[in-house]
Amino acid sequence: MDWRDVSLCLREDPDLFFPVGNIRSGQTALQIDEAKAVCRRCPVVEKCLSWAIDAGPVEGIWGGTTEGERRALRLRAMRGPAAQEAA
Ligand code: SF4
Repeated sequence: MDWRDVSLCLREDPDLFFPVGNIRSGQTALQIDEAKAVCRRCPVVEKCLSWAIDAGPVEGIWGGTTEGERRALRLRAMRGPAAQEAA
């Protein structure tokens, strides 16, 4: 069985995970919070986040993160453990 088969987002409107607009305010920010709340309850959140980080830039909320948040995680990983300890 694939991890996607047990993902909670299968039971949600897919549009919830693909917000459009300014992600920092208004309805879009609320939508992102709602999508992340689903991810927090999801049994495969770690696998999903790992997939999304490895996949490179992908639109939408995956593993409880936005693409911008995943970009920051990728950069931190590329800089290595020393940079993470200094942060
Ligand atoms: S962590 Fe979020 S996006 Fe990933 S499978 Fe679960 S509900 Fe879907």
